[in-house]
Amino acid sequence: MSHEPVKFDLPTLYQDLEPSLAEFEKNFPLAEFARSHYQQHPFATLLTCCDSRVSPNMLGDPFNRVFCVENIGNQFRSNEGSILYGLLHLRTPLMLVAGHNECGAIKAATSDYTSEPESLSRELDTVKESLQQGCAAIKIDLAAVLHDQAQLAQLNVDAQIDLLMKQPDVARLVE
Ligand SMILES: [Zn+2]
Repeated sequence: MSHEPVKFDLPTLYQDLEPSLAEFEKNFPLAEFARSHYQQHPFATLLTCCDSRVSPNMLGDPFNRVFCVENIGNQFRSNEGSILYGLLHLRTPLMLVAGHNECGAIKAATSDYTSEPESLSRELDTVKESLQQGCAAIKIDLAAVLHDQAQLAQLNVDAQIDLLMKQPDVARLVE
């Protein structure tokens, strides 16, 4: 599950971040934000994987548009409260769940992760339960689809939607 550590020269890394931070500060729509009393008005709650290759800008500029909740394997149960905040309090009209192929969390959850720290194991248990739930919903055995990363990602997303719809407050919003 572990990757080789990426070698960075920290002073260079900090230096390289400066233009990005300056650009963010320069483009920050402070006046527009002040006009809306510094409140956020996202149109979507997005549950996705925190994999660094999966980005909330898949929906365009996420600034004040996307309430993004990210965790390993895009699990509803790992951040249920945050997702409910987006739906019930920010009242985003749209809820999206985005999974992805070759997900490290799915690969880990279908491997032996018993030596991982408890908090990480707990989140992987959640991913594994989602995969089992996704398989049970279409009456297939998890072992039979372990080779198919794309299908596992899809089954995982389907399980999150199922869990969302079983949450009574979310179900009421859909009615
Ligand atoms: Zn992932």
